[in-house]
Order: sequence, then structure tokens, then C-alpha cells
Amino acid sequence: MTNDTTGHDDGHDLPDFDAGTEAAGPANAADYRSGYVAIVGRPNVGKSTLLNRLVGEKISIVSRKAQTTRHRITGILTDENAGHEAQFVFVDTPGFQTKYSNALNRAMNRGVTQALNDVDVVVMVVEAGRYGGADQQVVRLLPEGKPVVLAVNKIDRIADKGALLPFLAEVGQAHPWAAVVPVSAARGKQTAELLGEIRKHLPNEGLLFPEDELTDKSERFLAAEYIREKLFRLLGDELPYGATVEIEKFEVEPGQGTKGPLRRIFAAIVVDRDSHKPIVIGKGGETLKRIATEARQDMERLFDGKVYLEVWVKVKSGWTDDDRLLRSLGYE
Ligand code: GDP
Ligand code: MG
Repeated sequence: MTNDTTGHDDGHDLPDFDAGTEAAGPANAADYRSGYVAIVGRPNVGKSTLLNRLVGEKISIVSRKAQTTRHRITGILTDENAGHEAQFVFVDTPGFQTKYSNALNRAMNRGVTQALNDVDVVVMVVEAGRYGGADQQVVRLLPEGKPVVLAVNKIDRIADKGALLPFLAEVGQAHPWAAVVPVSAARGKQTAELLGEIRKHLPNEGLLFPEDELTDKSERFLAAEYIREKLFRLLGDELPYGATVEIEKFEVEPGQGTKGPLRRIFAAIVVDRDSHKPIVIGKGGETLKRIATEARQDMERLFDGKVYLEVWVKVKSGWTDDDRLLRSLGYE
């Protein structure tokens, strides 16, 4: 990584870097940035909202044939505009454990730091006006020597913009950030600036994923992905081996008047054994309820409309032998 001693101005001393007026051809190709980007931060700061805003509704997922990386890709943004050519590959990292410090959580957090070492740029998200203990713990786990761009989110909530300055100065001290960018993920404010700061730290190697390796996944697929993600996050190491998600029904009810369409989604979490069922369901149904609620909230944000979601757990022993089921799960 370059030592960006020029700070965050536009680098006027640099040659014609962003002008995009050069003749097309090799000079342009040499400016095609691409790389892996992880978004981290304590819960509720707006990471999912930001990711959805950055990649838009058109979430691209790399086709199975190209899935050779260690990363779980959550979205890809390919920008082909002159002077901005870049491919941002957003990847998932295991959640930071900031509640308790016990041996397991410390081990999980080391895993997060390792995962962050594997990406090109980290984006840490905090909430404007709120920087507390949980944020500090995330900062402590940032890998050394890795460019980290700080996104100060939810600036739309701060009525008095002047009040933001002392806050920016305070968080600015918390880490040697590559840049600090105030944004509003919900309103889409300053997200282009954020991408510009990320882009500066991406390697110059052309497309990581050519267009023909990208597929735009259907809402049905994404619904299953969201449930899978919650399963993974809420169960962690306890997640039963072989557990998967099947969307049994996906209906869209047309909206009426000012109300948009309602999506009714019926999903099953398929486990291998009877003994796995209570693990997914949790005490008094708590775990399953949280999976369903959190997945529904994410879906409503992504689909931008109301979602009715029903999730249950079913046992399908030996499902790996069942071709039909495999196909329905997307394992063709
Ligand atoms: P995550 O837990 O970090 O993934 O956070 P989410 O993306 O789930 O967002 C948490 C809450 O903050 C949700 O209610 C979002 O609607 C809200 N939120 C996210 N970004 C913004 C923003 O820019 N402005 C405001 N006012 N709310 C936001
Ligand atoms: Mg989230």
C-alpha cells in the first residue's frame, strides 16, 4: 500500500490520474482497480444498509464455477465510468464479538482479524455522534497496516452539521484511518465519495470477475442467502453441519394504492438429524424467532417493501442423495 502522505485532497500533484480524458486503450486498462472490501462495525451502525446502497439492488454473485476464493461474497459493484473504473468485491466477515471477553469470543475475534487481513480495504462504520465501548473494541481488532476507511454514518440524523465537526475530530484520533467520510447510507449521501476513497487503495489489476462469471441472483435466492447468513451469525460454531435453507414458496402480492407489493416467503431450514432441530430452534423458540425476524428486516430493506416470512425447521436425513432437493437448493 502506498503511504498516502498527501492526505485526502485530490492529489493535485499526481499526474492526470482521475481525468479520464486520455485516449481509451492501454492507459485506461492500467487504471482499472479491483479488490476485496470488508465492511465492519458494531451491530446497528448501518452496515447492511450501506452495502445495499453501494451495490444497489443488482447484487451480483459470482457463479459457482468461479467460487474458488476463501471469501464469501455479499455483493459486487462494477463501475465502468471513465476515470472511476473499478470492481469492488464486498465480502462477509464473521461478526465481531463485543459483548463478552471469554476465550471463545477472543478466538472468534482473532478469526475476524485474520479475515480482514485477507481483504484489500476495510470500511469501518460508526454512527455519527455515537462512539462508544463497542466501537472501540472493533477498532482494537483492526489489522495493522491495512487501509481502513472510516464511514461516519447516519449524518442525516444530525440537524446541526456544526456539531459533527468535534465528533469527526474525536473519531479521527481513534485509528490511523486512510480517510474519514461522513455518509448517510439510508439517503445515499456521500456514498460516491466513500467509493472514491476505497478505490484509492485497490490494486490496479483489472476485473477480478469478468461479466460472464457474474449472475444477478433472483430475490428467491437472496431470501435464502439472508436466512443462511442469520443462521451462520446466530449459531456460529454450533451451526449443525449440513444445515441449509430451502425456499418452499415465494409469492408476490400486488400492492394497492400507495402500498407496495407484499412478499410472502415460506422457508425451511433443513437439518440432517432430529438432534439438530433443537439447536436451530433454541430455548423457547428464541433462536429461530431471531433468525426469522432479522432475515425479514434485511429482506424488507433489500426488496424495499413489506415481507411476510415464515421459517421452520425440518429434518431431511440423507438429503445430499436427493437430486431434486439439491437442485432446489441451488447445488446443480
Ligand atoms: P447493521 O446491523 O450494521 O447491519 O445495521 P443495519 O443496516 O441493519 O441498520 C440498523 C438501523 O439503522 C436500521 O434501522 C437502518 O434503517 C438504520 N440506518 C442505517 N443507515 C442509516 C442512515 O444513514 N440514516 C438513518 N437515519 N438510519 C440509518
Ligand atoms: Mg446487518
